[in-house]
Amino acid sequence: MRSFDDAPFLVIWEVTQACDLACAHCRACAVPGRHPLELTTEEGFRLLDTVKSFGDPLMVFTGGDPLKRPDLPALLEHSVAAGLRTTVTPSATPLLTAEAISGFQRAGVMRMAVSLDGPDAAIHDGFRRVEGSFSRTLYALDQARRMGLQTQVNTTVTRRNLLRLGEIADIVECSGSRLWSVFFLVTTGRALVQDDLTAEEYEEVFAFLYNLSKHASFDIKTTEAQHYRRYIAQRRKAEGAAAPESAPNPISRQAGINDGKGFVFISHTGEIYPSGFLPISAGNVRRDSLVDVYRHSLLFLQLRNSVNLKGKCGLCEYRNLCGGSRSRAYALAGDFLAEDPRCVYQPA
Ligand code: SF4
Ligand code: SF4
Repeated sequence: MRSFDDAPFLVIWEVTQACDLACAHCRACAVPGRHPLELTTEEGFRLLDTVKSFGDPLMVFTGGDPLKRPDLPALLEHSVAAGLRTTVTPSATPLLTAEAISGFQRAGVMRMAVSLDGPDAAIHDGFRRVEGSFSRTLYALDQARRMGLQTQVNTTVTRRNLLRLGEIADIVECSGSRLWSVFFLVTTGRALVQDDLTAEEYEEVFAFLYNLSKHASFDIKTTEAQHYRRYIAQRRKAEGAAAPESAPNPISRQAGINDGKGFVFISHTGEIYPSGFLPISAGNVRRDSLVDVYRHSLLFLQLRNSVNLKGKCGLCEYRNLCGGSRSRAYALAGDFLAEDPRCVYQPA
């Protein structure tokens, strides 16, 4: 398994918290107006150069809605020119025009990711709390496909769409998207505990995703459900497949990645978090070196060492492959080293 002690696999930059949607589960508690202390364009350029000094991490521009920043094209171009594989995650609002999508392509963006939380307007728009978001999402996917820009669909699984995941997967397939990124709820920001699934239901979704992954035309990854890797390892073992670390399989690239371990999140004001769902700051890019904070801060060091894990995660033979969601442990137990309360597994 890869060590993530020196460099993250994925860097997420929340370029703004401004957004014209009002999603029920919004981690960022996004509002329409931009924050006056957002990182400036120049600070953004410096941040991107620093990210490149890690080597070759994936660079994700997120929000809020990145399109709320007029300097987004310049920032994307700088990221691509620096040699970073760059993804952008715009919100499906009237700002997401064909011209905006074509701008992503001109800037050299590798992939555009959009959110889809239901197979129809009733569920999706109900979740996003703005009418027309569903049709704009489909429009954006269609435009990108016509232009030849790779797409990814992000879906947050909640009680509202649990029974409709198959239909959402059909839309992902029809859109020609490369990746379905399935987020599991962390009750931070506006997200509500009553929207979350039980640990048993997580397992049911894992079974659905694993079975789908065997024939889907797109890759599937989970966010804040690190224990999907444990599920895959168990299924592959039961099916007599190679050990998860030694053969190409749905978890090989993701193995071991967790909040602060292969993953770092920069907030709109430059705070350095292990994840957007784990808003504990280990520094700020305005005064601290991102590289030093990632490599040497106590918070990131604690998170990367699975010996520190508590409860059943600390006893679990899958703790290096999985380790449980540190964000969920923090959100539900108030301790980022506690066991993930949404895992059914009982270590021997
Ligand atoms: S699109 Fe994203 S940033 Fe905007 S309100 Fe929804 S979850 Fe928040
Ligand atoms: S007990 Fe913790 S480490 Fe083990 S599989 Fe569950 S979440 Fe992962």
